[in-house]
Amino acid sequence: MESVTNEVKAMLDPSFTPPAAEASRFGAKDVKDLHWANLLNSYTCTECGRCTDACPANMTGKLLSPRKIMMDTRDRVTEVGKNIDKHGPDYDDGKSLLDDYVTREEIWACTSCNACTQACPVNIDPLGIIVELRRYIVMEESQAPGSLNTMMGNLENNGAPWKYSPADRFNWANKN
Ligand code: SF4
Ligand code: SF4
Repeated sequence: MESVTNEVKAMLDPSFTPPAAEASRFGAKDVKDLHWANLLNSYTCTECGRCTDACPANMTGKLLSPRKIMMDTRDRVTEVGKNIDKHGPDYDDGKSLLDDYVTREEIWACTSCNACTQACPVNIDPLGIIVELRRYIVMEESQAPGSLNTMMGNLENNGAPWKYSPADRFNWANKN
């Protein structure tokens, strides 16, 4: 991701000058943070439900439905549009796609398998929206589930998802 690369360069290289148009936030909290194609997708969705039928999280009883993700995005875009018409472009109604429409339980139930996108007859990508919402939670709020935070901490400290130092990585091979 270019925005993340620029952030890392800015930390490591004092001579680096970030481009003028930097992202205001990482990931998406509300529909204004999403790409226009995500918003157009939500209006293009036929509500056929093939994505949800193919979703392994949904099949195994999790709360997630990719069809609902698209419906929620459409409902929120419509609401934001009405607010803009009524109160102007800077109006904040205190709500957002994340939490007021899509819950955290839903997006963390996703396995990122991409079956929903493959099943969609009109090439809509519900996973793209889910990833952006997760990206906001991880990169702006540092609120990933505990198991993920442990893994990411280990990656930072040990260069691998496990809790062991790289120097101890082959200790298992020395055990009789
Ligand atoms: S990517 Fe996520 S939402 Fe899409 S089918 Fe897989 S688990 Fe379901
Ligand atoms: S498969 Fe595509 S068109 Fe059908 S409900 Fe899912 S996103 Fe909408």
